Amino acid sequence: MDAVAALNEIAFWLERGRAATFKVQAFRKAAAAISPLPPEEVAERARTGRLKSMKGIGDRTYQVIQQAVGGGVPDYLADLREKGAQPLATGGAAIRNELRGDLHSHSDWSDGGSPIELMVAAAGVLGREYLALTDHSPNLTIANGLSPERLTRQLDVVAEINADGQSGRGNPDSRVRLLTGIEVDILESGELDQEPGLLDRLDIVVASVHSKLRADRKTMTRRMLGGIQARHTNVLGHCTGRLVEGSRGTRPPSEFDAKEVFAACAEYNVAVEINSRPERQDPPDALIQLALEAGCLFSIDSDAHAPGQLDFLQYGAERAARNEVPAERIITTWPVDRLLDWAAAT
Ligand SMILES: [Zn+2]
Ligand SMILES: [Zn+2]
Repeated sequence: MDAVAALNEIAFWLERGRAATFKVQAFRKAAAAISPLPPEEVAERARTGRLKSMKGIGDRTYQVIQQAVGGGVPDYLADLREKGAQPLATGGAAIRNELRGDLHSHSDWSDGGSPIELMVAAAGVLGREYLALTDHSPNLTIANGLSPERLTRQLDVVAEINADGQSGRGNPDSRVRLLTGIEVDILESGELDQEPGLLDRLDIVVASVHSKLRADRKTMTRRMLGGIQARHTNVLGHCTGRLVEGSRGTRPPSEFDAKEVFAACAEYNVAVEINSRPERQDPPDALIQLALEAGCLFSIDSDAHAPGQLDFLQYGAERAARNEVPAERIITTWPVDRLLDWAAAT
């Protein structure tokens, strides 16, 4: 088995299972360390033990590489594959099967852990037809938000990856169309945190609030309405900002006039995101119900920051099913052409 593929697949399963970042990164780093070497060279270094002294290779990863170049599936990977055969969520299979894409993901250009190419490859393995790359906007400095210059550069990179996919090079799964996008901050003023001319060029704009989450109800409602009414916005990201579990601790939902906010989403043709991250589970069930009553569309998104997290869509599908959201109202079940027509019209 190819050693780089084995290491990356191990990382994929660990990410999907929400293993600690440092544990996952050991495998991603080892894969990156040996990927420039020709496979024969990797095999040779594994045989002679020279690989052990290479930067980025530890005991565990050395063992994996040795077993891979020896021709078999490494034990550790075999074990993870067996565990991974179980679905992440128990319900929502029908909706999960209808999902074609994902409109919210991050790469190492902002605060994601992996290069764009690895995100696309994993989306392909998971059978997605499209994936929107939505790295953060400049205001979110803590997450290395993209300046206008960097976003402009990223658009060229996305075009190259898609072109490689069509020619069968580079993009290992040509079925995946990588959509250009952004997760843009809704600033306190209600404006979007990126140049309008640049937002014009993007396929998908997810707008989210990332700061001053404890603002009073009136202030937050006004801010969110600004983001929803902005002509570029397609999806309202993780609308309450709550955290229900996990290493970052918990955070209560922001307070806002949900009826007014969802009425605006319906009026301005902005889909309400069902954020699949286990620590977010955003919006809460009661708000999904309000959004349904308001006539909103929904987008089930992974908000993946690593390839394995793209499979979190299973959690979102389960929540949508539990709340009886009709598949037709979930824009990520739509064919990509319909989705893009819709996004361009809003
Ligand atoms: Zn966000
Ligand atoms: Zn995000």
